Parts: sequence; C-alpha cells; structure tokens
Amino acid sequence: MYRYCTPHTEILQGGRGREHGVPRPTYTADMGGALLVGLCGAVLGLLAGSFLNVCIARLPQGSSIVAPRSHCDTCGHPVRWYDNVPVLSFLLLKGRCRDCGHAIGWRVPAVELLTGGWFALGFLPLTAAPALWSDACFRLLLNQIAFCAVGALLIALAIIDWQWQRLPDVLTIPGVMFGFLLTCTDAMFLGENEYNLVLHRTVNINAAGAGRSTGNIFMTGPEHLVYGRLLSIVVCFLLLYGTRAAYRAMRKRDGMGLGDAKLLALIAAFLGFAPALLALFAGTLLATLFAVALLVRGRATAATRLPFGSFLAAGGMLAALAGAPLVNWYVGLFR
Ligand SMILES: [Zn+2]
Repeated sequence: MYRYCTPHTEILQGGRGREHGVPRPTYTADMGGALLVGLCGAVLGLLAGSFLNVCIARLPQGSSIVAPRSHCDTCGHPVRWYDNVPVLSFLLLKGRCRDCGHAIGWRVPAVELLTGGWFALGFLPLTAAPALWSDACFRLLLNQIAFCAVGALLIALAIIDWQWQRLPDVLTIPGVMFGFLLTCTDAMFLGENEYNLVLHRTVNINAAGAGRSTGNIFMTGPEHLVYGRLLSIVVCFLLLYGTRAAYRAMRKRDGMGLGDAKLLALIAAFLGFAPALLALFAGTLLATLFAVALLVRGRATAATRLPFGSFLAAGGMLAALAGAPLVNWYVGLFR
C-alpha cells in the first residue's frame, strides 16, 4: 500500500509547529493509504475524545478519572459498554440517558468529533513514511505524538476553563513536562549541524561538540533546541505571571489566573517560543472580540470574568496547526 520516500526526500526544513528540521510530510502514498491512515487517526481520536470527556467532567472536581465507571450524572446508573461508543451511541440514544432520559449534552459528541478530527490530521503525515527505523521516521512519529498530545490537552483545558473558570494543575504541569520531554527526545535525533545556533559578524568561537563544523557555532543543535525550549517555557510563564502581578498591583484584584501562565508555558513546551507568542496573540484577539460582542449586546460589564484560558488554548491549537507558516510569513515581513 505504501511507497517509501527515497533518502533525499526524507528531511526537508521546517515542519508543523516546530522551528527547524522536523521531517515535513512528503505525500508519496496513494489516496487509499492516506484515507486508511487518517481513519486510524480518527478512530484513535474518537476514543481519546471519549476519555477527555471523563477528564473534563471529573478533574475540576478533584475526582478520580479511573474509578468509578462511567455513569449517568442524574440517575447514577452505570453506562453500558454498548452505550459508550463515541458519537454513535449519542446518535442512537438521541442524546438521552437510556435509563432516566436525561439529556447528555452536546459537549460529549463535540469533544469526541473534535479530537477525532485533530488526530486524523495528526496522523496524515505518517503516509509520508520515510524508511522504517530511520531517524526521520522516529522524528515523524515524535512530531505526531506531540501534535496529538498538545491538541488533546488544549481541547480538555479549553472546555474545563469555559465551564469552571479554572485550569487544573493536574493537566497543565504534567503537560509542560511531557512537551519538554518530547523536545529533548527530538533533540537526540537532530542531524549533524542541524539547528546549530550560528553567530554572524562576531569573533570566531565554536561550541564544544560542534563536530566537523568550522563555522561560528555558539551552540550545537541539541543544546540550542533543549536550552532554547527551557528558556521559552520560563519566559512564557513569566510573561503572563508578570502581567498578572502588574494588574494586581494596579487594580488590587486578580485579572488573570496563574493557570493561564502555566497554559502558555505548556504551549511553549510543545511548540516553541514564536508559536507560543502567536497563540498568545490569537488568544488575546479572540477574547477581545468575544468581550466586545458581549459588551455590545449588553450581556457583560467591564468586571465580567472571561475564560481567557479557553481562548488561549484555541490560539495554541491554531499555532499547532499553522504556526510555522504564519511565523515564517511574519518574520519574512521584516527581511
Ligand atoms: Zn440517567
């Protein structure tokens, strides 16, 4: 079913949501292969979405996501296995509990469909299938895991913040650590001289371990990627932490939760600094538009609390989807 790429097509510069050197999908598989891979992604995404629904319902209340089994919130009757099929069961039951007839709510199938679509998109580049067990293959897989994981985390956080006005630490902090761990793993597979930080127009220096290169390397690729990402996480956290502290000093009340700062750090951990800034910009823009719409319709005052984390998470999803082209376009404006 698949044709494999020749080595020279394996790695192209750039990639979704990463700054440099991530294998870019080169679609050599036929349409049938793409459809099959997308379908596998969608099915896995639907199941992941079903699990996200459990997290969304239970984590903000501090309940366990493992026990007890899924049950109706109204009558408490356990959900039968055949009533737990993502989306399909919702349609067959016409959105109502089989036992008490209470409405299940559109959030459940919406989260499942969204996650299914996200995973399908995340899986599509796998059709590029560089030579199995090659570095390019591992990095492609790593990139897909990162894309699916950050999407799932952002979907869950967006909805939890919308409903509860909070972003649980139990999602954000492990999210930051997992994103950073994936980046460190990615750094192990960088090609020689790839992602090196080279200084131009300065005295000649060379990093230890810079390999055969004679260039003016300040940091080698893995150092640049790992330390750069660590710095991005800290700076992004401090950016919103500082904003929050400044607001508190001026207005004597909280304008933003600490969760928002951790959420931006999470986006930076997975995507890097520039895409995180893009997420912040897009999130702020969306939140402002939403606030203006509420004010115009007289449904809010200046003191109304907005779930900023939901908008920031949406911005993060935009950055994961289209971050690299958008950032490159923006940087290109100044060249
Ligand atoms: Zn019920």
